[in-house]
Amino acid sequence: MICVILLGPPGAGKGTQAKSLSERFNFLHISTGDLLRENVKKNTPLGTKAKEFMEKGELVPDELLENMILEKFNSLKEIKGFILDGYPRNINQAEFLDRILNENNCKEIIIYLQSSEKVIVERLSGRRICSNCQTIYHLKNMPPKRDLICDLCGGTLYQRPDDQEETVKKRLYVYLQETSPLIKYYQNRLNYIFADDEADIVFGKIVEVIENESNLK
Ligand SMILES: [Zn+2]
Repeated sequence: MICVILLGPPGAGKGTQAKSLSERFNFLHISTGDLLRENVKKNTPLGTKAKEFMEKGELVPDELLENMILEKFNSLKEIKGFILDGYPRNINQAEFLDRILNENNCKEIIIYLQSSEKVIVERLSGRRICSNCQTIYHLKNMPPKRDLICDLCGGTLYQRPDDQEETVKKRLYVYLQETSPLIKYYQNRLNYIFADDEADIVFGKIVEVIENESNLK
């Protein structure tokens, strides 16, 4: 089984790329955010515990997340591979992942999407979301037909506070600070990919790395 680990700052395009990759290679896309939401929604024992932390605005402890990943992992016997997006975030998590990948004879491919601050700010600060149906637009790359009105439902578009320019810069700084030990931990295992280009160009480069490393062609 192949495990693609997608790393990179917010706005580098991890989510978009993970989605395209899962379609191309028929890999399962595991986003820890989705995994958390899924467990909470289904009221699983792990979800119930996680909810307590989330409601207090605290980070969900590593151990809880590990158990969710393990559960998911054990349910995956038949698949060719999976893509992890948003995990690991720290060395603890990376060590855990190394352990389960080793135990299960998985081949890891670690990809770091590298984007400049300028492009990240442009991508995230231009994002607008429909307050009614949650469709995502971009003022430059995917503008609505009428100013700040949703094409699909006529709802008003708004900007998430998280996507304001100053906040984006702060998020980026926090990400780089938090993950620098992780990058060191992975050092010569990382495949750096320049991710300022259009999504389909970046996608082509990732596909090439995966094909070369996994003999999937
Ligand atoms: Zn809408």
